[in-house]
Amino acid sequence: MSVLEQAPRFDAAGAERLARDLYGLEAAASPLPGERDQNFLLTTVRGERFVLKIANPAEPLALLEAQNAALARLEPLGICPRVVPTPGGEAIAGADGYRVRLLTWIHGAPLGAVARRPRHLLEEVGRRLGQLSAALDGFDHPALHRRFPWDLQRGFDVVARHSPLVADPALRELVRRVAGYVRARDGRRLARLRRSAVHNDANDYNVLVDPSDDGSVTGILDLGDIVHSYVVAEPAIAVAYAVLDDAEPLEAAAAVVRGFHAMRPLGDDELSVLFGLVLLRLCVSVCMAAAQLRERPGDEYLAISQAPIRRTLPALASIPPDVAEDTLRRACGLDPRFAEPSVAADVTRVRRAERIGPNLSLAYADPVKVTRGWMQYLFDETGRRYLDAYNNVPHVGHAHPRVVAAAAEQMRRVNTNTRYLHDALWRLAEALCATLPEPLRVCYFVNSGSEANELALRIARAVTGRRDVIVLDAAYHGNTTTLIDISPYKFNGPGGDGAPDWVHVAPLPDDYRGPFVRADPAAGRSYGHAVGRLIEAMAERRRQPGAFICETCPSVGGQIVPPPGYLETAYRHVRAAGGVCIADEVQTALGRMGDGFYAFESQGVVPDIVVLGKPLGNGYPLAAVVTTRALAHAFDTGMEFFSTFGGSTVSCAAGLAVLEVVRDEALQAHALRMGARLLADLRPFTARHELVGDVRGRGLFLGIELVRDRATLVPAAREAAVVVNRLRDRGILLGTDGPFHNVLKIRPPMPFADHDADRLVEELDDALGRVAR
Ligand code: PMP
Repeated sequence: MSVLEQAPRFDAAGAERLARDLYGLEAAASPLPGERDQNFLLTTVRGERFVLKIANPAEPLALLEAQNAALARLEPLGICPRVVPTPGGEAIAGADGYRVRLLTWIHGAPLGAVARRPRHLLEEVGRRLGQLSAALDGFDHPALHRRFPWDLQRGFDVVARHSPLVADPALRELVRRVAGYVRARDGRRLARLRRSAVHNDANDYNVLVDPSDDGSVTGILDLGDIVHSYVVAEPAIAVAYAVLDDAEPLEAAAAVVRGFHAMRPLGDDELSVLFGLVLLRLCVSVCMAAAQLRERPGDEYLAISQAPIRRTLPALASIPPDVAEDTLRRACGLDPRFAEPSVAADVTRVRRAERIGPNLSLAYADPVKVTRGWMQYLFDETGRRYLDAYNNVPHVGHAHPRVVAAAAEQMRRVNTNTRYLHDALWRLAEALCATLPEPLRVCYFVNSGSEANELALRIARAVTGRRDVIVLDAAYHGNTTTLIDISPYKFNGPGGDGAPDWVHVAPLPDDYRGPFVRADPAAGRSYGHAVGRLIEAMAERRRQPGAFICETCPSVGGQIVPPPGYLETAYRHVRAAGGVCIADEVQTALGRMGDGFYAFESQGVVPDIVVLGKPLGNGYPLAAVVTTRALAHAFDTGMEFFSTFGGSTVSCAAGLAVLEVVRDEALQAHALRMGARLLADLRPFTARHELVGDVRGRGLFLGIELVRDRATLVPAAREAAVVVNRLRDRGILLGTDGPFHNVLKIRPPMPFADHDADRLVEELDDALGRVAR
């Protein structure tokens, strides 16, 4: 069967003749779009308008009768055209072997031509469609039980049959994969769904809206695709078109479904498969277009209509179906899908306390039990969604499907260690080195930031033969014995033993709280010279630095961005004294700062050793040390370096996927823009809230320092905790940091978006306004 029946070929004069001969109408005709039928707008001399429809000869008479019967049933809704009979009373007239109908004209602009589609308009589309669906409840006609490729009951067959015709191999693969996934997840549930007559084509050119106000739907047109099928196909098809090119497709889908559900309630199973049917409809559209294109090669209209689907389908396909289901359920006011009532959060807490060491802490007065993550969101056991403005480990987003797929696929094949040849290892090393300047060209992979810092210290010791280390005040570098020894945040904190004699603490280059402030153009160099003075003082005690280790932007130290010139000066002093410069970029790497892939880039230095951790595996344990060939050779002392899990094939696959996503989703540029807009929104807080002493940072690495008194800078730690707990209660996750625990830390997964920023700023503003001092 041809997918594209030959449409009738009347010209305007022919249409005018039909109008005169059959309906006694003196009218001017102009062609309207139509795929199978031929349609004309008729305008009479009195200015009345009608639509003349000349049916495709392949369309059975019974189907036209069914459409007319459906239109009669929908008439009370006032949004569908009415059939105008001939003066002789015929609803379907015949002429020249064609079947002709006259319909009333409905004013309005196609939704597809409206530039702005506010959510309330989409909700109204859903409501109107829900009314239409309710009106068709119980309506039936033998002609509706037809074999029709646009019927979603046949969707998988259509994809199987026509997807080989999709020219673009990436799109072809995607369509097959998506359809296969929908079938695997939803196939059995689909078989049980309730069915009815459905309009089956509420695409954005069949929905008319009032162009003069952006809230009302004036028409739902074209019953040409009417078929007996899944009731839920109705909203699914509307959603499939409403989400195209929408930056927030789930929100757009939720609006349509909310409206539909209000008028025609959907069941659990229907809501469960709805998003899958959205994907299936788009897959069918791609496949049908490919098939039609084969019959009408070079038909640009067919190709152009596919462009938004190509743009949107990959993003839609990467939304976990249960996240979509959850969003749609909540849009309908139903229980969330992620609810896990079997183990309540307080039970989890008790069981954990029984078997887990007591010095593991929990965030928030009311700790969050997480059951799912998706990009910049976390979900708790009740299905509540939290905006994650804190976690930088899921760098490219919680559960990013590309990282998940890469790691799972590699896990299925083999996961082994670096004593065997495997291409993932060198590929990751190459990809990483490509992001770093010369001469940082040799990589070691380990499992944690701590292991990486340990290794960096070992390399520095092997190279210099010295043990002494210079660290920054308030720094944290990891949880091993040696790293606690070089972390003032720990050895000077509760339970700490103070600095060992081989550890030397340089001042934190904090240009808000420290002796040299932001307004001082020499502040960076002054902090750098402090390192030089420390080295002089060490020399007096006959000690020489083996290494200077510092976070380029101290995070635990309070989201500090050192003033310009700091590292340049400090590194100069360290190198002059024969020390190795280690940059701990565990918190700041991979584009987070926006202006560079690494934070050290903005300080105009190249470290001797770079340490990477947290974001590198997007949560899969993966950390790295990158150094120069010279240092790597010096470290090759004859003692093997081996880490059982470090550089495992799966971790390398995950790391590669992370680097690819950062590049492909342009996340560094995104962080730069998002940071600038957040700072622009947050800086005025210093004027609005007395408590806010400083707003600082760059990219998606920001800090808000709270003080009780702007003159003495007395830290407002209790207030910071109150704010963070309030935000947690409001569904936003933040943390505090800094030596006085008074800095609000904003460091979200990189997909953090504009609407997230709006929410964060608004809630922060509110929380800061409420906190009593
Ligand atoms: N360095 C820095 C700067 C860190 O923030 C951390 C962890 N917070 C580490 C090292 C240690 O990393 P891990 O916890 O993966 O061992």
